[in-house]
Amino acid sequence: MLMNGAEYLETLRDGRVVYLGGEKVVDVTTHPGFRNAAKSFAMLYDATSDPSLHDILTFEENGSRYATHWLKPRSREDLVRRYEAHQYLADLTYGMMGRTPDYYAGFIVALAITPDILNTDKYSFGDNVIGFYDQCRENDWFVCNAVTPPAGIRKREMFLERGKALPALRVTAEDDAGVIINGAKLLATSSPFAHSIWLGNIHPLDPALKMEAITCAAPINAPGISLWSRKSFERHAVSEFDNPFAYRYDESDCIVICEDVHVPWEDVFVHQDPELSVDIYLKTPAHSMGNHQATIRFVSKMKFFLGITRRIAEMMGTDKILAVQDTLGHLASLESMLEAMVHGQIHNHENLPGGYVNINRRYMYGAIYWCYIYHEKVCAIIRELMGGGVMQMPSDISVLQNPETRDRFEEYWSTPETTAEERFKLFKLAWDAVGSDFAGRHLLYEKFYVGPAFVLRGHSNREAPWDEMMGIADKMLASYGPPTQ
Ligand SMILES: Cc1cc2nc3c(=O)[nH]c(=O)nc-3n(C[C@H](O)[C@H](O)[C@H](O)COP(=O)(O)OP(=O)(O)OC[C@H]3O[C@@H](n4cnc5c(N)ncnc54)[C@H](O)[C@@H]3O)c2cc1C
Repeated sequence: MLMNGAEYLETLRDGRVVYLGGEKVVDVTTHPGFRNAAKSFAMLYDATSDPSLHDILTFEENGSRYATHWLKPRSREDLVRRYEAHQYLADLTYGMMGRTPDYYAGFIVALAITPDILNTDKYSFGDNVIGFYDQCRENDWFVCNAVTPPAGIRKREMFLERGKALPALRVTAEDDAGVIINGAKLLATSSPFAHSIWLGNIHPLDPALKMEAITCAAPINAPGISLWSRKSFERHAVSEFDNPFAYRYDESDCIVICEDVHVPWEDVFVHQDPELSVDIYLKTPAHSMGNHQATIRFVSKMKFFLGITRRIAEMMGTDKILAVQDTLGHLASLESMLEAMVHGQIHNHENLPGGYVNINRRYMYGAIYWCYIYHEKVCAIIRELMGGGVMQMPSDISVLQNPETRDRFEEYWSTPETTAEERFKLFKLAWDAVGSDFAGRHLLYEKFYVGPAFVLRGHSNREAPWDEMMGIADKMLASYGPPTQ
């Protein structure tokens, strides 16, 4: 059942435990550190439930309507439908919200079409993931994830030597009804706004660490779950005019602490199997179908970047300078490369058993690597093209509210073509995308959300058709011999 924005906001008032520093946040929909981000997610729910957008954002099955990100793709046309829905939603936030409800849905859809991997000699959890998919789709749930161990895990021995409990999430007990989990995971982006959290392991686990090899889902308000948010940029936004992105789109990142959280067996997907806990992402389409969304989102962000850069160059009059035009051409080339990489993932898709399809995972990893490399470079180019403009602006937009400063601001800061207010607005918007605290968090996000770079390169190495490429080299080597004379 689709829900609209108001219904979605209501679901967030469910007793979830969120800490912002030492403060316990009572209601994320009204708290000054979270409320605007909550509204932005609500805007996405409004879009999906809007009948005029049903063709793009929903599909019908057996007389019911669901969000397109829950569509199990069976053809290239289905992949295009999924793409168009991701793109529409990403455009609504200018690519500035990484973990919208359509992100993790891709992982769950992918596992629901390849459930057999969860049926092993010891446990048969395949039906659990199908059941979880059904629940998510039926209830239009927003699922976030935390699949990274806490910092300090590399000093595991030191914890033991000092007689301290390991902070890593693990199963501490089990009974007929399910498992009890304790410990921490990171870094659950968007979790204060989600309905359910997927907990697991994306990085290889030592085979001895069986109790940490738990993959499960839990309601975000489950007793014992607390979310520890980093600094809220929304709370520190001076105003929408001063920090437009931080004001609206600060999706939050949280350490998740689980203290005696009871997870029923139906919501357990992997237990006591370190190898499988990672394989479920990499030996199925899960990691690729999920992260495909991230590459589409980045195109939305790049388009915004290019648009704002061109506007600034026009305002400053630098767009007439050949060297600046060359730089704009460089940015346009980069944007078109990424867009082509997104379409390539769909065009050269993979066929899966059971009549399903997936995007091309190798191209997806290539596209993410492109984002990893170029995001900070593009931001640096834009900051340079902006010159010192943002530093020439008054402290904040209250300059317009004081009659004593307003007229002089207009007199000294305007140009023949642009009012002082317009200049202020343009510079502040661009700065919030490429220079502010909020932008700094995005630099980290685009670098690390799939894991560090060496992990990302490892994915490409694993997926590369080395045999084919070595065959090409071998063919050439075999095509000539030493001179006979
Ligand atoms: C803003 C943000 C949001 C995120 N959201 C989520 C989320 O929702 N869910 C989730 O599960 N994860 C999320 N992540 C990813 C995750 O939480 C980690 O940040 C990420 O996996 C990197 O781990 P780390 O910070 O512990 O860095 P580390 O792994 O400690 O790496 C730190 C540095 O050391 C280098 N390094 C470490 N080991 C090696 C090695 N063996 N060889 C070479 N170099 C090495 C790395 O390249 C890196 O430069 C998010 C990350 C960020 C920054």
